[in-house]
Formats: sequence, C-alpha cells, structure tokens
Amino acid sequence: MEQIKEINQFDIPLARRTHLDNPNSILLKKLLIFSPFLFLLFSTGALLLLKNIEIEPFSNINSQVERNHDHRIFGHLPYREIPKDKLVWIEPNIEVHIDMRDSLLKMREVAKKDGIYLVFLSGYRSVNLQNDIFYSLKSIRNQEAAERARVSAPPGYSEHSTGFAIDIGDATQRETDFETEFENTEAFKWLIKNAAKFHFKLSFTKNNKYIEYEPWHWRYEGSIEALKVFETSKK
Ligand SMILES: [Zn+2]
Repeated sequence: MEQIKEINQFDIPLARRTHLDNPNSILLKKLLIFSPFLFLLFSTGALLLLKNIEIEPFSNINSQVERNHDHRIFGHLPYREIPKDKLVWIEPNIEVHIDMRDSLLKMREVAKKDGIYLVFLSGYRSVNLQNDIFYSLKSIRNQEAAERARVSAPPGYSEHSTGFAIDIGDATQRETDFETEFENTEAFKWLIKNAAKFHFKLSFTKNNKYIEYEPWHWRYEGSIEALKVFETSKK
C-alpha cells in the first residue's frame, strides 16, 4: 500500500503535465506564439488612433485663425517692436527703420524736383508711445476702444512700431496733416503716381474693410525684412 501511495504521488505531476494538452492550453500556446504580432497590431492601431486625436484639434485651431483674420484687434494686426539698433534719425524728431531711410529720402528729393514738398509727420513709434496715444486720446475724446481703433492702432498693433511706416503731409497745406482732405493735395496725387517706384504703399486704402481711410499713412515694402513684417496683412 505504501508503494502504491508513492506511485500515486508521482502520478500527480504527470497528470498535471497532461493538463497542458487540453484545448484551453493549446489556445494559450498559440496566443504566446502570436503575441508579438498581436502586440504590433494593437500598438499600430493605438498609434493611429492617437494621431487622429492629436491632429483634429490642431486643424480646428488653424481654420479658426483663418476665420479670425490672423489675430486682428479692431481690424489691426499685431506687430513686434523693431530692435533699437535698426532705427535711424531722419529728422530731429523722426526715426525710421534703416532699411527704408535711403528710399524715403530719395522719394522726398525726387518729389521736390517735381515741385512737390513732402513733409514727414511721424515715423517709428514705440509701443509705449502708442499706448499713450491710444489711451489718452481715447479718454480726451470720450471714445470707446472700438471707436478709437478706427483711427488709431492699439499698442502692439501699429505699423509704426515696426519702423517701416511713415505719415506724410504736404508742406504747402499743413492744415490737411492727418486729415482725409490730404487726398486732395498735390503731394498725395504725386504719391499715388510715384510712391511705388520707391517701394511705398498706402496701408489703409479707401475701401479697406477694417480701418478708416488714411491717405497720409504709407509703409515701406522694399526689403525682405519689411516684406516679412507685412506678409500677414496680405492674406
Ligand atoms: Zn500712420
């Protein structure tokens, strides 16, 4: 009897071994063999799923930006302030971007030969100065921000902070400085005919849909840097 018991004890592990051959363990074996392939399949699927989740919100943001017309505020585009080392004085009170100085001075010289006397009214304006102009005039005139923005850019949103903008008047008709009537002066007529030769462009034309018409406000587009600065406004 003792012997039979011992044999039975040895039988137990043997019986367990045969257990591996039942249909469940065959499935397990197959799973083990195919597990690397399954892992690959699942991870590829998961990656594709994640990619879709990530891409969708970004494409939504991009189309929103297009709809918002590139972050305009009251129609004005944001502009970074020019580094100080790129500014040069062209008058005791007027600084401009070094890239446009020669072209601007040349334009005034050629106009003079045609009997037209251009006067420069305002060039570079720091964001701080723009801040003062925007908020002080707004309160003096008792205007709300949106109204004021029709005629003056909010700080950080002025072409003047790039150094590539210049306000021009007619030296023989100073009463038209910064006025729509400037469009009736000989200086304005000359500019319309000739400014493009010197790479100047009227920024806020009569029929632009964002900002009040400013016949005195011109910007320079004669250098790569200037073109880059104004690229977004053309979209
Ligand atoms: Zn201006």
